[in-house]
Order: sequence, then C-alpha cells, then structure tokens
Amino acid sequence: MSRIVVLGGAESGVGAAVLAKVKGFDVFLSDNGKIKEEYLETLRQWDIPFEQGGHTEELVLNADEVVKSPGIPSTAPLVRKLEAQGTHIISEIEFAARYDTAKKICITGSNGKTTTTSIIHYLLIQAGLDAGLGGNIGKSYALQVATEHHDYYVLEISSFQLDNCYDFRPDIAIITNITPDHLDRYEYKMENYVKSKFRITRNLRPEDCFIFDSDDAITIEHLSKIVLQARMLPFTQNDTVEQGAFLDKENGKIVVRYEQDETDIYLKDLALGGKHNIYNSMAAALAAKATGIDDETIRRSLKTFQPIEHRLEPVLSIRDVLYINDSKATNVDSAWYALECQTSPVVWIVGGKDKGNDYSVLEDLVREKVKAIVCLGIDNTKIHEAFEGIVGADRMVDTHSAREAVECASRFAAPGDVVLLSPCCASFDLFTCYEDRGEKFKEAVRSL
Ligand code: ADP
Repeated sequence: MSRIVVLGGAESGVGAAVLAKVKGFDVFLSDNGKIKEEYLETLRQWDIPFEQGGHTEELVLNADEVVKSPGIPSTAPLVRKLEAQGTHIISEIEFAARYDTAKKICITGSNGKTTTTSIIHYLLIQAGLDAGLGGNIGKSYALQVATEHHDYYVLEISSFQLDNCYDFRPDIAIITNITPDHLDRYEYKMENYVKSKFRITRNLRPEDCFIFDSDDAITIEHLSKIVLQARMLPFTQNDTVEQGAFLDKENGKIVVRYEQDETDIYLKDLALGGKHNIYNSMAAALAAKATGIDDETIRRSLKTFQPIEHRLEPVLSIRDVLYINDSKATNVDSAWYALECQTSPVVWIVGGKDKGNDYSVLEDLVREKVKAIVCLGIDNTKIHEAFEGIVGADRMVDTHSAREAVECASRFAAPGDVVLLSPCCASFDLFTCYEDRGEKFKEAVRSL
C-alpha cells in the first residue's frame, strides 16, 4: 500500500488526509504546531494516525508522496529534506483533483478572489446546478471530494496552493488581477509570484477558458511571454473586446460577448458597488456564460447577490454616518478600490502590520476623499509620514484597539460622512486575523 504523508493539520491538510484514507492509502499526518480540536476530532473519527507539536522524521521521510499544506513554506527544513531525497510534494488541490471528474471553475489573483468565487458559486446555484464551493473558502476541496459529489466546483485558489500543482487542470481559470503581495514567500521577486499565479493556466486545453483582467499591466505583460491554447476571455473597463466583457460607460452597462451572444448588464442593477466589483462581476458573468447559464439568471443573480462579511460590508448608520467594514483589505491595492468607490467624505481607519507598503499610490484619493485618518496599529510611523502633509497632523490620531478607533472616528465624522475601516495592512499586530479585526470593529460600532 503506498504511503501518503500530509504536512499540516488544518482545513486543507485534514481534508487531504481524509481523502487519502477513503482512497485506501496508508496515511499519516504531521503538524509542527498544535492541531485545533475540531480537526483532531475529524482525524480520530476517520482513524487517521497523526502527530502534533513536531515532525518525526522517520515517519515522514518514508512517504511515497507528500501533501503539503499551503501555509508551510518550501524553505521549511523538512520540506527541503524531502525534496533533496526526491520525494514528490503536491498540494491538496492537486491531490483532490486526481479523484474528481466535476467541471472546475478556479479563481486566483491578488485581490477579489473570494468575492468573485462567491458570486460565481451563487450564479451556478441560482441556475439550478449542483456546485460545491471550496479551496481557500470554507470546507476544503479534498474533504468534499472524499465525502460529497458535485457536478461542478467553484474553487478559490491561492498562489501557495498553486505552487505544488502539476497536472491540475481547471475547465475555466480566472486570474482576477496581479499586484504585489506575499512577496516574502517568493524571495521578494515579483516574477516568481506572477509565475505562481499563472500555474493555474498551465494545463488548459483549447476548449477550456481563461478569464483575465486585460487592464492589468502585469497580467498582460506575462501573457505576452507565454503561449496559451485556451479560449481567451478578457474583461476590461478601458477598451472594447470582440470576445470577453467590457464597460460601455456612456450607457452605464457591462457588455458580455461570448461566442455569438451579446449580453447587457446595467451597472445600476449590480448588487455590489465600486469599480473593483465591476471587474469581479464581469469575470463572474463570463464564467457563467461559458458554463451555459442564461442571461436572465445572470442578471438576476448579480442583482440579488449579498455582500460578503468584511469586504466593504455596510455595518450600521449612526447619526447619519455610515460605518463600513473592509477589514479584508490587507494591501494597498484593495484599499485603493475601497476609497475609490466612496462618494461621501471619509474618515479612514487604517494601519496594522505593514507588508512593505508603498502608500504613495493612495495620495490622490486621500487628498480627494479623506477628511481624517485614524491609525489602528502598533507602529503607525509610515502612515503619518505618507499622509500628514495631506490631511494635516491635527486630523490624524493613533489608536490601539477597535473600540478606541471607532470612538475617535465618530468624533471626526459629521452627518453624511462615511467611516471606513480599510486597513491596507495585515491584522496580526493587534488582532488574531482579519475576521477578528472586522468583528471587533462591528462590535465597537454597535456599542457607540
Ligand atoms: P481576496 O480573496 O483575493 O483577498 P476579496 O474578495 O476577499 O479578495 O476582497 C478583499 C478586498 O480587496 C476587499 O475588501 C476589497 O476592498 C478589495 N477588492 C475586491 N475585489 C477587488 C478587485 N477586483 N481589485 C482590487 N481590489 C479588490
């Protein structure tokens, strides 16, 4: 019996272990840290041997194949050892796809993955199709392949998950956009990060679709260097295209061209606002067309889709000030889009763990839209340096908790204004994760 060792005991790793068990492998799971109780329960329930708090090399190095969780970098000593002895290391996505014949719509990119994935899943469900939702969202893909059956999967896939994919092939691949992020995992080389995202396209056949943002310079530049056989479906707000989606600004509508069909979707009928969500909606509409979903269902679904938590999520209006939770905006580009779509004066809550941000791209938007800045982070020096000259030192404060930030913001805000938490930074200095930051923000707003 061949032996599969899974490294990492969270959503992805435990899913892979269950699938390996179901498929009759000799499975072992090893985690360097502590495994959460819910995952321990699953491992026990499926009778899967495991260890936590460290790796026993003899139990790992004898694997025929290793499934590595995306959180473990390829520079980890044990991974290096496995590579040196020639052990094949794959990701959970690669492993699960071997046992799955469903049609797969797969979404990667720097920003907009979760939103686009969720819209597409919603569209498929509205069209009455049997579709699983997974990857980086919710239940792992491997666990679903092990325990459920679906005709379609809509999968959000991070670059870390793509890094160990080899034969994986989506039927429809989407790259939402590519902007610098996570460069610490790619030797600070943008090219490595771009290549990693493009792994989603490497096995596409002529009948498969590749949906991409043709306004994105980095995507276009990489496309000019490679040969893709897939059907190319660009989306753009700056041009018109023969096949793909574009914006007809004059008439306020998205035009989708797929094969002989042309579909109009009016911007006023989109549930999600903002320029970035026009891109996300275009990508989703193209995926839906390529899946054969009818125009009426596409229009209705884009109209009735509900905003997702922590992504430009309206929380409450208090004394005519709207509080918006965009805690998921953990890089400069996502905060750019959040500011861009505001039409009222903004009190901006920003800060956290800086990932090497260059704030200069936000200067014009801050000048135009932001009346005060509330910094929420341990070290706010860079934010002060970037924006004090624009909003004025007397309209910037430092805070160290969500409650303090919301209270300060409410003092700056006048009726008609917006208080926007769109932090540009990771949350780990003051919070456990972006969800925790968003929850605490919402609690603070509710108790104002
Ligand atoms: P991801 O899953 O890629 O992190 P999300 O859909 O969760 O992306 O959105 C994260 C944040 O990025 C949102 O809060 C929003 O402000 C911003 N965003 C969403 N879609 C886009 C896009 N297409 N381009 C740029 N920023 C976006």
